[in-house]
Amino acid sequence: MKPAPFDYAVAGDLSDVTSQLAQAAGDTKPVAGNQSLGPMMNLRLARPGRLIDITSLAPLRAVEDTPDFVRLGAAITHAEIEDGEVADPTSGWLRAAAAGIAYRAVRNRGTLGGSLCHADPAADWVIVMTGLCATALVAGPEGERRLALEDFITGPFKTALHAGEILTAVEVPRPGAGARWGYWKFAPQVGEFAKASATVLIDEARGRLRCAIGALGRRPLILDSAQSLIDGSLAPAEALRAALPDRASESLALHAAALQRALDLALETETPPG
Ligand SMILES: Cc1cc2nc3c(=O)[nH]c(=O)nc-3n(C[C@H](O)[C@H](O)[C@H](O)COP(=O)(O)OP(=O)(O)OC[C@H]3O[C@@H](n4cnc5c(N)ncnc54)[C@H](O)[C@@H]3O)c2cc1C
Repeated sequence: MKPAPFDYAVAGDLSDVTSQLAQAAGDTKPVAGNQSLGPMMNLRLARPGRLIDITSLAPLRAVEDTPDFVRLGAAITHAEIEDGEVADPTSGWLRAAAAGIAYRAVRNRGTLGGSLCHADPAADWVIVMTGLCATALVAGPEGERRLALEDFITGPFKTALHAGEILTAVEVPRPGAGARWGYWKFAPQVGEFAKASATVLIDEARGRLRCAIGALGRRPLILDSAQSLIDGSLAPAEALRAALPDRASESLALHAAALQRALDLALETETPPG
């Protein structure tokens, strides 16, 4: 199928985009890599009357590298992260995650911000950025605001963006010395979305311990029991059963296995921050 007719414009500046989006009441949508919106429009699951291309807006292309974090503009592509064209505060954890997204043609166009705003529960950046305790930077007609990633993603395909707001950047904290990380996803084939995914961050120097689960058909689940999982006193299946008592244990088996793999990876590897 082909999309319903629509108008297309290239964004002038940030305030122009946010005011146009606010005035258009949902009929105008920002478009970045078009790797999720395009297929939805082709299937007529989305029918915006107007698209504003935001990929060349300066704040969305900017990268700021500081001792505490790297701020990546929302229009940075998966391929630019994979290729090391932008700073990776995690000494390669971001590059590895980017390389595992879909296949190269998708990564060349798809953007960090587009992926987070699409908020597919099975998407790589949704779980990886939540697992890394990243912060979303948002701009809109009322000004700018910052949200922890776990507050930015509010549900499957849902974000905390208000009318007229766009995601401008993502701040990824630089891990402390000796920090460890594990990310694992089960995807039946290269280019397919994950059936289960999990991240483990052990960053004692910065006081951050986090175990997060993705691809659950909801916003990422952050487990309260990270310390017990990391010290081995709690099994992943038990932690998931306790966190999601309404779900059948069998439906969580793959997620528990993903969490075990992420734990193993985090505990057996040590990557000094760069
Ligand atoms: C065949 C195929 C396989 C894929 N496999 C995977 C996979 O394995 N893992 C994975 O994570 N992803 C996968 N994807 C999705 C891919 O990563 C997309 O690039 C991503 O989900 C959307 O990014 P985009 O830049 O293309 O966004 P777009 O498609 O341009 O936009 C997506 C949505 O976000 C909104 N939007 C975009 N940018 C902003 C912004 N800055 N502020 C506010 N709203 C914004 C748009 O209005 C739209 O609603 C796959 C896609 C395809 C086509």
